[in-house]
Formats: sequence, C-alpha cells, structure tokens
Amino acid sequence: MNKLNVELDSKYNLFINGKFEKPENDYFEAINPATGEVLAEMASASKNDVDKAVKAARNAFPAWAGKSVEERSAYLHQIADALTENKSRLGKIDCLDTGRALYEFESDYSDYNIAIAQFRYFASAILDISGMSRPITDGQLVVQREPLGVCGQIIPWNVPMVMFAYKVAPALAAGNTLVLKPSTDASISTMEVAKLLQEILPAGVVNFVSGSGSETGQAILDHPDIDKLAFTGSTEMGRKIGEIAGKKLIPATLELGGKSPHIVFSDVEIDKAVENVVFGFCFYNGQGCLNGTRLFLHDDIYDEFMKQLIKKVESLKIGDPTDTKTKISSAVSQKQGKHILDYIEIGKKEKATLVTGGNKVEVKDNEYGYFIEPTIFEATNDMRISQEEIFGPVLSVISWNDYDQMIKEANDTEYGLAAGIMTNNLENAVKTANLLEAGNIWVNEYNNFQTGAPFGGYKASGLGREYGKEALDMYTQSKMVTYMNKLPPIGFAGF
Ligand code: NAP
Ligand code: MG
Repeated sequence: MNKLNVELDSKYNLFINGKFEKPENDYFEAINPATGEVLAEMASASKNDVDKAVKAARNAFPAWAGKSVEERSAYLHQIADALTENKSRLGKIDCLDTGRALYEFESDYSDYNIAIAQFRYFASAILDISGMSRPITDGQLVVQREPLGVCGQIIPWNVPMVMFAYKVAPALAAGNTLVLKPSTDASISTMEVAKLLQEILPAGVVNFVSGSGSETGQAILDHPDIDKLAFTGSTEMGRKIGEIAGKKLIPATLELGGKSPHIVFSDVEIDKAVENVVFGFCFYNGQGCLNGTRLFLHDDIYDEFMKQLIKKVESLKIGDPTDTKTKISSAVSQKQGKHILDYIEIGKKEKATLVTGGNKVEVKDNEYGYFIEPTIFEATNDMRISQEEIFGPVLSVISWNDYDQMIKEANDTEYGLAAGIMTNNLENAVKTANLLEAGNIWVNEYNNFQTGAPFGGYKASGLGREYGKEALDMYTQSKMVTYMNKLPPIGFAGF
C-alpha cells in the first residue's frame, strides 16, 4: 500500500465509449517521483486504440450536441458534485503521482476546487450562450453558435485536474465530444475520474487515452477525423501542434510556457511583498507556467527586501510530499529534477550570483526524488536563467531604478503569460499593467484567479483563451442563417 493508504487499481485501462478497454499493446508504469514506487500500470494507447476512441466520440456527437443546454448544464453540475465528493481521495492520488506537496491539494486554491469551479462555471455560462438576431427586410437574420465536433485534447502533468477541467468543461458545455490524453507523469487521477464519469455521461462523450506523447499524443494529432485541438504544455510542442492544425485547417487552443516578471516598486510593505514573491516562484514547486520567476526589484529597497526574501525562502519546509507541513517537495520526475539542476549550473556559469539554494536535498524515505532547494540568483535579464523556462523553484532577481528600462526588460522575453505588480500607487499600477505584454496581470496578489476571467497568453505563451466565457467561443463556430417570410421574386435575367 502507498504512503497515503489510497486504494489504487494495479492496472488502469483506456476509457473508450463508456467502457474500460485493454490497450492493443502495452502498459507503462505510473511512478511516485519522490519514492520511485510503482503506483500502477497504465494502458498505453496505440494508434488503433486512439482511432477507436475518436470513432466513439464521433458516434456520440450528434446526440450530445442535440441535447438542450439545460440538460448539458445538469450533466456538468453532476460532474462537479462527483469531484466534490471524491476530491480528498483524488488530491492524494495526484500528490503521490506528481510528488507535489499534499497541502496544495488541501488548500483553498487546491487543484480540485479550481476544477470543480470550472465545471460549475461552464454549467452556468452555457445557459447564457447567445448569438445574434436582427430583422432584415421581409425576414430575420440569425447568427447561432454550434459545437465543432470531436476535440482532441492533450494535457501536461503539473496540475492534472485543473488542466483536465479547463479542457473538458467548456468542450462538453458547448456540445462537443472529446478524446483526451493525460500526461504519462500524471495519468492516474484522470482514469479514476473516468470511473465517476462512466456513471454520469452517455457512452462516448468523453474518452480518455493514456500513453506517451510520441505515440498516443501523435495519433491524436494525426487523426483525420478530429475537428479541434486543445493543448497545454511546452511552447516547442505548441508550435508543432499549431503547424498540424494549420495544415488540417482546424482550430487549436494552445496554452504554453511562461517566464513571468514580478515587479516590485519601492513603496510596498516589504514583508507582505516578500511573501507574494516567495509564493509566486515556489508554488507547485515552481513547476507552473504562471510562476513569477523574474523579480524586478527597485534599488531603493533592494538590500532590505533581499535580506527578508532569503530568510523567508530558507524557512520553507522541504520534505516528504505527504507531510502537510511540506511546502517544497519532489520534482515531478528525475528527468525534470535533472533539468532544474542543469539550469542552476547554467546560472553559475553565466556568472549570476547564487544567494541561496542551488542544491538537491536528501529526504528520508524519499531518496529517489529530486528535492531542490528554492534557489535565488542575482542576475540580469539577458541571461539564459532569466530567459528560458526552468519549471522549478528558481528565481532571477534583477534590480531596477529606471522605469522605462525596467518595462523594456520585463517585456523582453518570448513569453507573455502572466505578470505581477506590487505597489501602493494606483498610477504606477495602471500604467504598468497597460504596458506589460501578458495575458494575466495581478496587482498586489500573485496568481489571483477569478472565475470567469479569460486565461491565456500573449506572444509565444499561446493562442486562444480558456477559463472564462471566451472558452465557449473556442469550442463553437458561428453560423448565420437568413429567414425570409415568403419566397420573394429573384428577378434573375432569363427567368
Ligand atoms: P510537453 O512535453 O509539451 O508535454 C505536454 C503534453 O504533450 C504531454 O501530455 C506530453 O506527453 C504530450 N506530448 C509530448 N510530445 C508529443 C507529441 N509528439 N505529440 C503529441 N503530444 C505530445 O510539456 P510538459 O513537459 O508535460 O509540461 C511542461 C511545459 O508545459 C512547460 O513548458 C509549461 O510552461 C507548460 N505548461 C503550460 C501551461 C499553461 O497553461 N500555459 C500549464 C502547464 C504547463 P507525455 O509527456 O505524456 O509523453
Ligand atoms: Mg507519476
């Protein structure tokens, strides 16, 4: 039995057409990245398995699209209810499968609370979907929104159920059916949720195919009968998916990487601002596309701020993910852990000044894991550690006193996902929010998510929006219909 005494199946099959199906070929291992324990065997979907899933989604589409919005809304509420009932157990599963600290799954902003809120939100938003209508001479023009069909969705490992809900809730609300691939590093919770959805949704409306990106993911991308792609993951992969969607002339929503600036003015209350900065770069062990990883710190408060920042960071408990006091836990995989350590070496080589952290820590009974100290470098914005996504608890601190130069540097990145601003001066806040090139900007509270707000990236951080009502536009297309009261004479020459 695993550390949290959660009962898991020894083998998870694919969820296709409302049933659990053995894969054509193989299984892969779901690993606890802290201990190395094999948690379960997961089915690896082949090209043929994906084809079966797409066919099931295609067959289910007309009936699902034909349901009234009230009916689909009720289904989404049932999903939210089922997640609410099971969130404690499912959160523990994600803790074991991803190595993220248990407290994150038990906090107010836990993955499951966000996921449940997504299903509730889209259950309501779909009731308010509206097109357009106006009278025309002897008739009426109607513009209506219709679902796209079968969606192929691919998600990453960092916040598995948040990513799941971002994709599944709006797609279903809008009347689409789908085939979703979770990440090989975090598939168990998706397959456990499949058991809940089996009791709720008609067969074939959702189909979950675990397996690697190179085989299962690629089979989704290459399938000729998919009408829309949605992806969250690296910018590199996002570009490839954009190309594939372009060739097929189907839409793609892409949520990609980030290297977000967190800007601190000299007028802040230092202790509170320090907490924001620490949370901003350390939540999810730094493995979030939204983490504030470039701190632009004003010269006037630099020394005092750094003193408090270092003290706070060094007080964070690094330890066993299942211990609720732990704030920093294991990287999601040994591969990711090595990737973070490589970047720490790059930072040292490019002569950034390491002021705290930088080491892998041994945690008793978790020797397999990569527990990496939160790491702070004094750096410049042009260094690789300030430009490239590390996806770990590593912060570049860049001092500033020239406002225009600071804004230029904050925007000098290929990414544009998020930004934080801390100031007590409204003029600073408004001006800076307007100048920053990012899709999500938080003044005085980092990662301040509000239901219904659009979430997505500027520049290479993505295309399209999720989370808010715009997501329904991403899962529908508009159709215009003109209705004439009677058959008018056309008067075409020769008739
Ligand atoms: P990734 O390598 O791009 O993988 C994301 C997903 O794509 C996984 O399910 C992966 O499968 C799959 N995939 C890989 N190769 C594929 C292929 N050839 N065809 C189809 N699918 C393929 O990213 P990751 O390492 O999992 O996640 C880290 C990255 O995601 C970071 O760059 C981060 O910024 C970004 N991210 C962005 C957001 C956002 O909302 N903007 C949220 C979370 C993460 P397997 O890995 O299972 O093989
Ligand atoms: Mg795992």
